[in-house]
Amino acid sequence: MTRFVDVGNMVRWAAAQGTEQILAGMVRYIEDDFRRWEEFDKKPRVASHTPFGVIELMPASDHENYGFKYVNGHPSNPARGFQTVTAFGVLADVSNGYPTFMSEMTLLTALRTAATSAMVARKLARPDSKRLALIGAGSQSEFQTLAFRSVLGIGQVSVWDTDPAAVEKYVRNMAPLGLDITVASSAVDAVRGADIITTCTADKAKAVILTADMVEPGVHINAMGGDCPGKTELDPAILARDGVDVFVEFDPQTRIEGEIQQMPADFPVTEFWRVLTGQAAGRTSAGQVKVFDSVGFAIEDFSALRYVRDAVAATDYFDEIDLVANPDDPKDLFGLIGALVPSP
Ligand code: NAD
Repeated sequence: MTRFVDVGNMVRWAAAQGTEQILAGMVRYIEDDFRRWEEFDKKPRVASHTPFGVIELMPASDHENYGFKYVNGHPSNPARGFQTVTAFGVLADVSNGYPTFMSEMTLLTALRTAATSAMVARKLARPDSKRLALIGAGSQSEFQTLAFRSVLGIGQVSVWDTDPAAVEKYVRNMAPLGLDITVASSAVDAVRGADIITTCTADKAKAVILTADMVEPGVHINAMGGDCPGKTELDPAILARDGVDVFVEFDPQTRIEGEIQQMPADFPVTEFWRVLTGQAAGRTSAGQVKVFDSVGFAIEDFSALRYVRDAVAATDYFDEIDLVANPDDPKDLFGLIGALVPSP
């Protein structure tokens, strides 16, 4: 049998645990897996692009477990009543290939993306950071906010979205949680005086959400919305600026999908796992500008699946599903249906 966490159980589990506690725990799992980065079988995700959006498969394996996520990205979806990003994922036992754990991953993707953003910012943002500028107040925005509060203690947020209803929804969800929220009048207004800038917009275009003149010394930019060929958020002049360091998850995938698709093929970047393992420097002075060119990588999904699998193991927040046809005689697969075939 395969353990399965559906949306209802994910919601019940998240409500019982508390989002911020989950985010803190998930950071530990992702960080553990990033520290053993070289053990993993890794490849850029497999993407199927259409004019509507993209559908992707994201596999990773540590040779004990194999994981994959199915995920879509359709920026035009909200206008049609659908979400931009939805997902589900699976863990399998490498020794026999049987799927052991399956989960909804629409909520889980928002959690793991926020946990990754906070894990990276803990190393790359100034330790005295207090104020987050959030550009894009869609599905990911509250999760991003709570991860920064849970992991970095950030309590002040200035938020901007071109859709006033999205900002209203964000304030409605976040204000009761005690955050100090300022609604900005533009992106320029939002980022003024911010220590960390998160761009989480969705547009199937080379958008320019941030220009170089908006980036003040000492800022950490968490650019997580641009994650597809032809879908970016940063003015390339920011990346090219002297003293700006760019960090990525998995270089071969980010070259295709990240902000750096706008840069020459040999543009220097650092894979973040190297910072965690001490092989590369993170932030070494207060005035540096750091950019996390986040696109989302399969190991983060693998870690998130492991985290939920372990967290729900001793609870009733999962079902057992009969996913694998498994006859007593492994060679008699037909026998499962043969007994039901009417005789002539
Ligand atoms: P969403 O559609 O729910 O929200 C996006 C918001 O961006 C909308 O409210 C929209 O009005 C706003 N927006 C669009 N253009 C804007 C602009 N120029 N200025 C200000 N606001 C603007 O999408 P979501 O689920 O929140 O995802 C946001 C982005 O993050 C998507 O592009 C998605 O593909 C990406 N994403 C990345 C990762 C990752 O790991 N890096 C993971 C999940 C989602």
